[in-house]
Amino acid sequence: MNDKVLVDLQGVGKSFRMGDGASRKVLDGVDFTLQSGEIVALLGKSGSGKSTLLRIISGLVKADAGKACYRGAPLSEPVPGIAMVFQSFALFPWLTVQQNVELGLEAQGVAADERAVRSEAMLDLMGLSGFEGALPRELSGGMRQRVGIARALVTNPDVLLMDEAFSALDVLTGETLRNDILELWDHGRIPTRGILVVSHNIEEAVMMSDRIIMLSSDPGRIRTEIKIDLPRPRNADSPAVRQLVDEV
Ligand code: ADP
Ligand code: MG
Repeated sequence: MNDKVLVDLQGVGKSFRMGDGASRKVLDGVDFTLQSGEIVALLGKSGSGKSTLLRIISGLVKADAGKACYRGAPLSEPVPGIAMVFQSFALFPWLTVQQNVELGLEAQGVAADERAVRSEAMLDLMGLSGFEGALPRELSGGMRQRVGIARALVTNPDVLLMDEAFSALDVLTGETLRNDILELWDHGRIPTRGILVVSHNIEEAVMMSDRIIMLSSDPGRIRTEIKIDLPRPRNADSPAVRQLVDEV
């Protein structure tokens, strides 16, 4: 097996039973590979099955056709090597920032003193030093999502899945956070080998990724793939970026 392959989907399909009892095929024959070292953006309209695909990769939802594997092993439940960041942050409101970040470490049985060291280091990396004891409601949206990202990264996952992670934020906050993540990634400071970002924002996909894949609806299938050979950081106003945004 090619050990650069982190996630491998072959012929993945998923149907849901709708309110009227009929079954609707949301994903059909999806082939996709995430390799070590790459950021891939998954674009598609609302309802095209992007979140469903991410949930299959995260092990939260089981595909009902095809094969979904992480490092060669079939995915049937969440695994420590794959972490997810949610659009709505999904923080526990009654836990402090640090307690939220430590949750994944706790689940892995990491001792309290090591949890503290690792969570503080990750919060520092995300620019949240000094906020360890704060509650989520005391933070801005951008800071809350930094906590969500710190929580995902603190376990050193191989794969980071981001489901519309910037779209609940105002444009400037979202762009700043996106650029911060990319800078950390491009300097090898994020302990992750591959990132899959789901977005419905073409410019975001062009600015972030090494490769864009598009999910078409009815049923969801990967239709187009575009390689992006531009160094980062990228300038959103540059002709090369504008041309790609138009092309997608
Ligand atoms: P996207 O993230 O691209 O907006 P989703 O993957 O969330 O799309 O949803 C794709 C389709 O599947 C939508 O029509 C949605 O209503 C439906 N769907 C998603 N999850 C479920 C579920 N658990 N039960 C029934 N239908 C679902
Ligand atoms: Mg979605």
